[in-house]
Amino acid sequence: MTSAIFRLGLVGFPLEHSLSPRIHTAALKACGLAGNYSLFPIRPQDKQPLKDLLGHVRTGEIQGLNVTIPHKQSVIELLDRLTPTAKAIGAVNTIYMRHNKIIGDNTDAPGFLLDLEKFLNTETQRHRDACALVLGAGGSARAIIYALLDAGWDVTLSARRTEQANELANQFENIKVIEYNVLTLNLMNVQLVVNATPVGMTPNTDQSPWPQSLPFPPRSVIYDLVYNPSQTKLVKDACLQGLRATTGLGMLIEQAILSFEIWTGYKPSREVMLDAANQTAH
Ligand code: NAP
Repeated sequence: MTSAIFRLGLVGFPLEHSLSPRIHTAALKACGLAGNYSLFPIRPQDKQPLKDLLGHVRTGEIQGLNVTIPHKQSVIELLDRLTPTAKAIGAVNTIYMRHNKIIGDNTDAPGFLLDLEKFLNTETQRHRDACALVLGAGGSARAIIYALLDAGWDVTLSARRTEQANELANQFENIKVIEYNVLTLNLMNVQLVVNATPVGMTPNTDQSPWPQSLPFPPRSVIYDLVYNPSQTKLVKDACLQGLRATTGLGMLIEQAILSFEIWTGYKPSREVMLDAANQTAH
């Protein structure tokens, strides 16, 4: 037990459906720590409230922040330092103070990889030259691509705006881009499909980023970053075709564990956080 009070929170917009308060509150309790996890809804254009919030991190009134859409990239200019991972990805999801500096880190990438490895039940080095297809070229796609390259995957990227996909691909080495509306091509060697678009998220649960008429790559595994609903259409469709598929709930938990550890020094139980998330996930 410790007498410190951990004031933690999440900044982004909108935030009302976030599971983070539940899972971090459960983690605080399970670790026997006093504290709370608050939501700080700040709109994209509201720069001063964001600066003010970081001021509370600087004074020690807030010990840790998570960052989500739309501030993951724009917050960078307000920080003192980035970890090598956050710098390479160009996005921050975790903020804390060390030695009087405000540091930005990114636990999405290692969180995704940890959950993917658990799901595949494999060691990282086994992925050498395996091919992954990432759908979407927004903020989370950056972290996913970084993580996959780090683990040795060959990465192909596809987004509905090909110029956005090209722009993201150019920030990494050896990324192929294929057009979203001609996904049919070159899929035979794909072993992993990652959905990094919000397609299929509640309330649009009848939608899938994968074209209805197109079979999934044979022997591929499907990883959907969307975790609300608990079974997305993409995951259901893949399972119906006999493939292994998962939502991103595990990634949400793993990135949360990593952030919590950075802030408190305690490693919370995955099961406790998962239970808390499942109490609210639809
Ligand atoms: P983002 O920055 O807004 O990027 C979304 C990407 O999807 C963009 O390329 C966007 O293209 C594309 N897209 C949006 N609507 C589309 C549609 N109808 N058809 C095809 N492409 C579409 O969002 P993000 O931060 O990357 O998040 C993406 C999803 O991942 C969200 O559902 C988020 O909740 C989830 N996520 C989960 C975790 C986790 O821990 N499991 C972590 C991070 C994110 P345009 O730019 O053209 O709109």
